[in-house]
Amino acid sequence: MELVSLHNGVLSRERFGVRAHRLSQVAAAGLRVPPGVVIANAEAAARDKDVLRAALSGVLKEGQLYALRASPGAAEWGGPYTLLALGMNDEVYAETASKLGAEVAAELYRRAIVTFAIAVKSLDGEPFNALLSAYSDSDKGYGEALLEKTKALYADEMGEDFPQNPLDQLVEAVGAMAGQWNATTSRILRIAKGAPADAHLALILQEMVHGLAPHSGIGRIQFHDPQTGARKHVGMFVTDTLSAAAAKTRFQWPIDRKDGGDESLEAFDSKAFDSLMAMEVPISRAIHDSPEVKFVVENGEIYITEVLLARRNARASLAILLSLVENGVIDREDAILRLAPDSIAEFLHPQIDEDTPRDILAEGLAASPGAASGVLVFHANDAVTRAAKGEKVILARYETGPEDIRGMLVSAGVVTAKGGMTSHAAVIARGLGVPCVVGADDLRIESQQELIRTKDGREYSEGDWITIDGTRGQVDAGQVELVEANVDEGLDRLLGWANNIRRMDVRVNADTPEDARRAARFGVDGIGLCRTEHMFFAEHRLALMREMIFASDVEERRRSLEALEPMQTDDFIELFQIMRGRPVTIRLLDPPLHEFLPHSQNAIAEMAKALNMNVEKTEKHIRALSEFNPMLGMRGVRLGIVYPEIYNMQARAIFKAAQYVNARTDEPVVPEIMIPLVSANREVEMIRAHIDKIAQDIAGESDVPLPYELGVMVETPRAALRAHDLAESCSFLSFGTNDLTQMTYGLSRDDAGRFMREYVQNGVYHEDPFHVLDREGVGELIREAVIRGREANEELVFGLCGEHGGDPSSVEFCETVGIDYVSCSPYRVPIAQLAAAQATIRTTKQKKKKKKSLRHRLERLRKGENS
Ligand code: PEP
Ligand code: MG
Repeated sequence: MELVSLHNGVLSRERFGVRAHRLSQVAAAGLRVPPGVVIANAEAAARDKDVLRAALSGVLKEGQLYALRASPGAAEWGGPYTLLALGMNDEVYAETASKLGAEVAAELYRRAIVTFAIAVKSLDGEPFNALLSAYSDSDKGYGEALLEKTKALYADEMGEDFPQNPLDQLVEAVGAMAGQWNATTSRILRIAKGAPADAHLALILQEMVHGLAPHSGIGRIQFHDPQTGARKHVGMFVTDTLSAAAAKTRFQWPIDRKDGGDESLEAFDSKAFDSLMAMEVPISRAIHDSPEVKFVVENGEIYITEVLLARRNARASLAILLSLVENGVIDREDAILRLAPDSIAEFLHPQIDEDTPRDILAEGLAASPGAASGVLVFHANDAVTRAAKGEKVILARYETGPEDIRGMLVSAGVVTAKGGMTSHAAVIARGLGVPCVVGADDLRIESQQELIRTKDGREYSEGDWITIDGTRGQVDAGQVELVEANVDEGLDRLLGWANNIRRMDVRVNADTPEDARRAARFGVDGIGLCRTEHMFFAEHRLALMREMIFASDVEERRRSLEALEPMQTDDFIELFQIMRGRPVTIRLLDPPLHEFLPHSQNAIAEMAKALNMNVEKTEKHIRALSEFNPMLGMRGVRLGIVYPEIYNMQARAIFKAAQYVNARTDEPVVPEIMIPLVSANREVEMIRAHIDKIAQDIAGESDVPLPYELGVMVETPRAALRAHDLAESCSFLSFGTNDLTQMTYGLSRDDAGRFMREYVQNGVYHEDPFHVLDREGVGELIREAVIRGREANEELVFGLCGEHGGDPSSVEFCETVGIDYVSCSPYRVPIAQLAAAQATIRTTKQKKKKKKSLRHRLERLRKGENS
């Protein structure tokens, strides 16, 4: 059985748990921690009671009371509650009574018995509570009488007296704690929090400094505000803890005189207060973080009984990290590594505070972070009308399509019953920074009746208030109070450090000048994906697009495209100007053409009228365009092959825009033209031939140089496996992991929401693969494509522009396979920047470690030692 002192250097967290680790760090730094020992493995210790008894008898001091505390590998894994005053018996009681008075000693003894009865002997606590309530603290001799009753109750319930031998108490307590650790529910809970299945529990047996002597007390302090991170003494102090009155009510005083006047620790004992203040820096240095300290004040001295990490939300977390760097407790790299990238979303969008009471109507997928309250609308038009009147609206749809974008743009939040993490609603909402929940299939969203029915039978109609929590994937009834977004100077500072460190570039998926401007504010490295189809949904452009789709021959189609071309040119000019010489990747038209057409009878009739067409003929035409499997049908490069004039128009617009901008700036743009949904190199060759020719023609019209790059989106498994072919026709490959995931799994990105929760809950998938890149399958294709592509052309640039580009774990994967840039929606840019910096730091550290161990092995070999 492994038993070590708390005061013999720093104990490893793996073997002795986080509590023992931190206490030993603080003890090693010379701070006053009551003496104690650590049992490395409670279960192993409890298995052989004789060995445990022998080991404990070697350390127990006569008449001493002990605290037994759980020390799990991580605080969030939980563990049994602390047992106090172990070792209490009649003899110690008498001695305590002579020192501290009968009332205090009796209450200490009573609590020891009740805790032991409940936590060690598994007795019901109710009868003990009833006993306490029956006594009035104004009764004379109340404490002692209550103690006698408690002892009698214990003996009654157990059929034996409260054990008087401290060793017996301790051995049983260790056994009980080991048992609680191994209970099925504790196990399930800690595994859910990331504990390994075989996680063990260490125990700290520590001499109890109870703070009961006159002028003593116990308290807790942290040095930063848990909400803002500002420097502040947050905590409490309790004196006279076991007085008759305190047995029923606890009086808690603040730490500082300014907060509590005479009823504060500072007023109560200024010397103790001063020494507590003096501990902040040494404790922070010892644990490399800002602490929450539990302490006891006894006879003017401070004893540290526990050191936790200061409680903090994301905002406070950042402020604390910056102050630790300022004080030289940690370095910049440490600070970068410690801020969870996803927590940055809390700075960018309003949130629902953890402690806010909630009435949750449904759960779905957390598709776009942030929270919003608003009145319900069921149609994009109604969203626009109400928003124009200044109302905040939440758009509820069964699913969304391109025709809903106008509505989404003005909505405070969006909820859909259908859809997955890369469905239309999710992608667009993330791009717009609008909070969104998709796949909330507990809600019956009936657009026709303009009604939502919840699982528990409630109904909500247009104009009713609801709230969307896109950070947690929840929909709440009514209006919920929100914590406002607020990007602060501190975040800019940390991101500045991160941006100097990261190897990978971070670009933005931007279709509009607003997207581009928003991302430029974060110092983005360019546009990695401009989905040009989104530029055609503005009302007057949609009409031209529809004319183009209904054109009866090439000439007619060309005429509509000619009308669209100057508009596209203007779009690109604006993007190029905002990006000021940084790369801009423009993807040629991708979606199936019928996505530009209306669905409802009314809308079809309206469109036919606008285009001066016969309604029946129009319907026939629309039917002819419909496909069984549109995502695998006439879309992407296939459109460009069948209707070359579409891509030709786009290429002309790109080159003309580049020529216009480059003639007027000293920060020339090199546009990157990207072909979607490629599966064979011949497709690229065919498109390239047209594009090269157009570039040549336009370049010939002026003497402004017109460099450009051509690239391919790797969105089909075949494109990944034939990356070496593609490498011959283009200069960059960008992984479109939304489609690549869809095609690798054979999993519809628009329908996955329906079963994704069950799949993840049952461990079929570890995570939603549309959210966190699947390293084993999709990742393997990417890894292989990078190897094959670089073998054919070592200059080939690799990017990733699926939604995974903004997910920290996926960004880390990109670093490990040597991708050059990730591209993500504007609001994810700072998250990706931080994640990329973390990935660079981690891989650099790993490489150094590998190098070091290799050097070690070589040295040992040189010395003739066998490894
Ligand atoms: C992709 O498929 O990953 C991608 C970026 O393209 P889209 O989401 O527009 O299909
Ligand atoms: Mg795609």
